Amino acid sequence: MNSSAPRSRTIPDLAVEIDGLVKVYRGRGPEKRALDGVSLAVPRGSFFGLLGPNGAGKSTLINILAGLVVKTAGTARIWDRDIDLDQRGAKAAIGVVPQELNLDPFFTPRELLDVQAGMYGVPKSERRTMEILEAVGLADKADSYARTLSGGMRRRLLVAKAMVHSPPVLVLDEPTAGVDIQLRQQLWAYVRELNRRGTTILLTTHYLEEAEQLCDRIAIINHGTLVACDTTANLLKRIDGKALTVTVDRDLAEVPAALAQFSPELRPERRVVVRYHPTVTPISRILDAFAAAGLVIMDLSTEETDLEDIFLKLTSSKTAS
Ligand code: ADP
Ligand code: MG
Repeated sequence: MNSSAPRSRTIPDLAVEIDGLVKVYRGRGPEKRALDGVSLAVPRGSFFGLLGPNGAGKSTLINILAGLVVKTAGTARIWDRDIDLDQRGAKAAIGVVPQELNLDPFFTPRELLDVQAGMYGVPKSERRTMEILEAVGLADKADSYARTLSGGMRRRLLVAKAMVHSPPVLVLDEPTAGVDIQLRQQLWAYVRELNRRGTTILLTTHYLEEAEQLCDRIAIINHGTLVACDTTANLLKRIDGKALTVTVDRDLAEVPAALAQFSPELRPERRVVVRYHPTVTPISRILDAFAAAGLVIMDLSTEETDLEDIFLKLTSSKTAS
């Protein structure tokens, strides 16, 4: 790399850096504080999930980064370029797949990508139109009008459009809403590959399972406020718990002494629920205690704690403002 390159050409540690971001929508009705001082950092190379219930402020945050919504206060930097001080630089560093499927119905995918490349000043010799269409599974539709494409295809075309100028940061706002499972897998395979090759991904989704599988870091916002921001592994560790439900062979009036150490709950229909931490208490120890209590295990099931439990815990604690 050229040592005399300007500061903006160096590779930053943080792909996105947001500090005290506030957005107040003022319209005809009552004003709406959609973001209330959000600060977060997206490390370069990460696959970052921004989660939150409907109306939490996810799209507002992303649209501020995309230059589509004007913030009320705070700062944001994309690839070390301040969105106010270096608007052009910030824009060049980011590709955004918006939540809405807004596509000109009379453009073909090939034309659309060419126009987009032109807008970003990508020289003809450097355009990768077919390569990108190939990657999102639209090569055979390169010359079909956008209006003839299915919802899933349009979504993938928007991803292709966001990648035309090869931005180091790709932002996807609910990209799989309304996309069927198979196409979702295809879309994720492509986005994962981009991430593997170094593109930083910032994703909002309300499919928590998807976020759990894809994202290495997750931020959760609720009513415009950050309520969690950590690695996915650490978030899941916060509630390292499982529930074991055992159906026994007889009615229990009280907790048998052999089981007391696990503080079980007695439930109707001869069921006993034990909450435990698998990393601390192996399930075999609990099952041995049932045997020691002289109980026959007729049936059992375990329930995992997943991102959904954590999400609900963090987003149900606050009431709407
Ligand atoms: P999310 O993407 O997490 O569902 P949004 O960022 O779209 O949330 O919305 C956050 C809040 O801001 C919501 O209460 C929404 O109704 C409100 N909001 C979004 N856009 C506007 C707007 N243009 N004018 C007024 N309020 C808006
Ligand atoms: Mg949204």
